[in-house]
Amino acid sequence: MKFLLITSLSLLLFLNPISAHIFPNVSSIPSWLNKTTCAWDQFKKLKGCRPGDRFNGLSNLKTYLNRFGYIPSSPNFTDLFDPLLQSALKTYQTNFNLNATGLLDDQTLAQIQLPRCGIPDIINNSTSMNSGQPTGRQSPHFHSVSHYSFFPGRPIWPAHRRDLTYAFAPENPLSNEVKAVFARAFARWAAVTPLTFSAVESFRSADIRIGFYAGDHGDGEPFDGVLGTLAHAFSPPSGHFHLDGDESWVVSGDLRSAPLAAIDLESVAVHEIGHLLGLGHSSVEESIMFPTITSRTRKVDLAADDINGIQELYGGNPNGNLSPPSSSTTPSVQEREMSRNGAAPRPLRFWWSPVLIAAVELFLMR
Ligand SMILES: [Zn+2]
Ligand SMILES: [Zn+2]
Repeated sequence: MKFLLITSLSLLLFLNPISAHIFPNVSSIPSWLNKTTCAWDQFKKLKGCRPGDRFNGLSNLKTYLNRFGYIPSSPNFTDLFDPLLQSALKTYQTNFNLNATGLLDDQTLAQIQLPRCGIPDIINNSTSMNSGQPTGRQSPHFHSVSHYSFFPGRPIWPAHRRDLTYAFAPENPLSNEVKAVFARAFARWAAVTPLTFSAVESFRSADIRIGFYAGDHGDGEPFDGVLGTLAHAFSPPSGHFHLDGDESWVVSGDLRSAPLAAIDLESVAVHEIGHLLGLGHSSVEESIMFPTITSRTRKVDLAADDINGIQELYGGNPNGNLSPPSSSTTPSVQEREMSRNGAAPRPLRFWWSPVLIAAVELFLMR
């Protein structure tokens, strides 16, 4: 196992970062990105499938649910809508604040079709998302309940490493404006913890190593082009933070009139840093650690659930909780984004993908 870990991390040292698609603002994004489709559009055809049905494509849905921790592995998934699938769907629906019917209703299919990440919501049969709560709550409005989660074994940065450094892959040409996005994202977590984050030049020696990569980049979690998987980060103390270089990352400005595929870089960075520090996903939709975010939305403010989770791992800021950077003029997640003509845009969401393999490996080494 140790060899496997060393091998996988060694591979990462020799990844070949790419020039990422980073746009200073929405108006600089080419219009052809409006035609982007999601990776899981294939699941549309499953509408109307019922328990007991046999339907071509249900096996792919089982593979999808298996990947994210909802259904046990099997050498060959069948196209039968069996009780195992129904049970998995109920759990999935519970985690995403949907009606836990176990049926493929419109809302569930819409959620499933959204691009999402590779990390399971349920790891080692354990989760603090809704389905892990004693009462299996389904309401999306239970703000007083904590749903933050940790990686198996609760890995965190050790006590003697509270002042962390980060660096960017030297092959990625990033402007100061882009680097400032990451600095702001780190500052949001530093404001509520004893942790500090400093940018350094040396990529190899930095605690946290940030790079944009495309496709298969050597860690078993290949990126998948536009949308789908956007980014992933390893649990502590690995420090690997990868972003999909094929996405259309937006550095600043109002995203409400952006093409569907436009992604706010800071929103993703804040989320991924949560993983780098040890947080898993949460069912609280307002939280940074909720696995999806509505497209063309900027979501950068830590919610109480995020703060409670990170402070359970590290404690609070010894200077008191400092004010995180302002989210400036861009809309909050609560604001309903409207397109230019006033119509509600397609509710495209996307997921982020921390890398589970390394998390489990690190856990097993303990
Ligand atoms: Zn990666
Ligand atoms: Zn995530």
